[in-house]
Amino acid sequence: MIRVRFAPSPTGFLHIGNARTALFNYLFARKNKGIFILRIEDTDTERSKKEYEESIIEDLKWLGLSWDEGPDIGGLFGSYRQTERLHLYREYAEKLLSEGKAYKCWCTKDELEKRITDAKQKVAGYDNYCRNLTESQISRFKEEGRKPVIRFKVPEKDVVVNDIIRGSVIFEAGSLNDFVIMKSNNIPTFHFAVVIDDLTMKITHVIRGEDHLSNTPKHILIFESLGYTAPYFAHMSMTLGKDRTRLSKRHGATSVRQYRENGYLAEAMFNYLALLGWSSKDNQEIFSKDELIEQFSLQGCNKSNAIFDPVKLLWMHSQYMKMKSASEIFTLAIPFLKNVGFSDEKLQQNKEIIEKVIEMEKEKLKTLLDVPERTGYFITENVLWDPEIIKKFKSPNNKKIFSEIEQLLEIVEPFEKTKIEENIRKYCQDRNLKTSDVFHPLRFALTGQTKGAGLFELIELLGKQKSIKRIETFLKEIEK
Ligand code: GLU
Repeated sequence: MIRVRFAPSPTGFLHIGNARTALFNYLFARKNKGIFILRIEDTDTERSKKEYEESIIEDLKWLGLSWDEGPDIGGLFGSYRQTERLHLYREYAEKLLSEGKAYKCWCTKDELEKRITDAKQKVAGYDNYCRNLTESQISRFKEEGRKPVIRFKVPEKDVVVNDIIRGSVIFEAGSLNDFVIMKSNNIPTFHFAVVIDDLTMKITHVIRGEDHLSNTPKHILIFESLGYTAPYFAHMSMTLGKDRTRLSKRHGATSVRQYRENGYLAEAMFNYLALLGWSSKDNQEIFSKDELIEQFSLQGCNKSNAIFDPVKLLWMHSQYMKMKSASEIFTLAIPFLKNVGFSDEKLQQNKEIIEKVIEMEKEKLKTLLDVPERTGYFITENVLWDPEIIKKFKSPNNKKIFSEIEQLLEIVEPFEKTKIEENIRKYCQDRNLKTSDVFHPLRFALTGQTKGAGLFELIELLGKQKSIKRIETFLKEIEK
């Protein structure tokens, strides 16, 4: 039975790169009918926050991931939060101590720093000083009130990581110093907690970012010292920005939360993230979740780094927007419409008209965030006209045009787009006016926008009453 895990540290919002790690683990588990576990690695007690754990869980769910065991749902191997498993780490550390595979190190920070700088070792770092202390040295340290850390006694041997994606990577004997597994406050270090958790949660495959590859020999050695074989490892290439540096704030939105707030559809994000470092044999680009599960394999993961390209994402996103029906888009856009002040009641009353506008504007809707801008003016009570633009319309001529159009709309029957268009065009002709001198101001008067849906469709959708009322108010504005 395949068991994989996604193990985020709750020290920030879910980063794009981490979301991709979660996604690959999820796809691998689902493809192989295995178990996908969510584990919260919160041993960095200063930086870990409950709010981040909650937001990570929320964003993973939003993306469309589900897990079989986790802090929110429990499972046979819980708890799934490291700070609730401290007894386990202590137990295993004690075992290593009693077998002479780990030892207490009493060195102070100052002593360590001093010795590291004048060390003549193969690799800089700890010089394994406390490996062979005498009883009297130990009692002196205790008397001085020092609190020891526990270090792992690194065996003198090569470690080979047989990585599913990267092939075999050799770490030569002597390239590691004895490293800390338990801090003096009895909290495990990342390396130790990860191994004990992977061991006790019976993880079969560790799928994570390449930034952890250099940690892997440490992990393998701990597994072996406890008498176990390490799981399989698959280290995925990193996610970089277009300038090939690590994806960071400089590159714009880097958290799943930001994309969600910017009105991106979860399915599009899911699809795009899956293609960051994985590709199908025939380079297909648009995949449903089921297709991805069906086709995903670790062998299909690339060794070279993935480039996160927001332009490509937006392109893919627009494909997904086109696939959605107007009514689906309306439902998904409700939170965004509410954000600009429309109540649930108002939205439900105007559902039909909003859906019609969505249908009309669909090609132009890049994200859900565009929905309020492109539909809001249909349902708003008060159009907001930009005072700078309105200035341009303050002429006696315009006043005349608008009052005449108002009268004209009053008598158009039936009030539908071809009839409206016919009448307004005829009016321009009779008055010898350029259509652009009438159409643009009219659009602005009716919507407060300078571009948008087709003018006559728009007037039809607004309806006679609303259109006339808006023109009247606009007339008052330009008369001021
Ligand atoms: N907590 C680690 C991180 O957020 C993940 C460790 C692992 O996957 O082994 O980078």
